[in-house]
Amino acid sequence: MPELPEVQTVLSGVVKELRGARIIGLECLYPGTVIMDPELKGKAWPATLTDFERRGKYMLLHLSGGHSLIIHLRMTGKLVSDRIVAGPSCHERACILLDKGRKLRFIDIRTFGKITLCRTENVSRFLPTLGVEPLGEGLTGENLKELFRPRKIPVKNALMDQSLIAGLGNIYANEILYRSKINPVTPANKISLPRLRILVKETKAVLTEAIAMNGTSISDFRRVDDKSGEFQNFLQIYQKELCPKGHAVKKLRQGGRSTFFCPVCQK
Ligand SMILES: [Zn+2]
Repeated sequence: MPELPEVQTVLSGVVKELRGARIIGLECLYPGTVIMDPELKGKAWPATLTDFERRGKYMLLHLSGGHSLIIHLRMTGKLVSDRIVAGPSCHERACILLDKGRKLRFIDIRTFGKITLCRTENVSRFLPTLGVEPLGEGLTGENLKELFRPRKIPVKNALMDQSLIAGLGNIYANEILYRSKINPVTPANKISLPRLRILVKETKAVLTEAIAMNGTSISDFRRVDDKSGEFQNFLQIYQKELCPKGHAVKKLRQGGRSTFFCPVCQK
């Protein structure tokens, strides 16, 4: 499932595709994949990209004409250039049509992904409540102490709660906790401030390294050029039998997801 580094990687690829291009349409090929703001003002197309940002696992593409596209890949969504995937795919759910006969295909096996076209001023209405950006200045040990103060839930679940911190999913939560030497079942409110400062430092480090390597391709994550990311080669705990120090890794289920941890390193 794409997490922050994968979404950032796809966003960079999409921006590259849209630079110098005009968007001339948005085609919905699977009911419910494309969501339209009922308050669109006039014709949305043609339009060009004026600005872009990532918020948690959401890509926001701001367009000329006062509209925006919000793209959420969810579990298996990917955006692929027609330069790479020329023919239509049976899992193609939507299509961003560009001038010169080009297109960006939204391919999504599980069909949970969405593309929303809305007025730029309405973007927040189409996003859920999203917490602090982990790579921004808003994430500090002190802020995390405040956020975690009322939460007795396991720290791993707290890290993955998008309304607290936006963008972390299962793979990176496992990696961050291993590097921070925190046991994933520890109640979030029981972690000391010095340890939270380490957690913040490792969160930023893991995400920054993963972005530099174009994300992690465990199952089906692909870049816009349909290539894999490379961070899967640098995972230390996720789906491992031994931790880097040679201890046996334990596996358990938390919130329906697999947790991998080292009972020796993460006391
Ligand atoms: Zn270990």
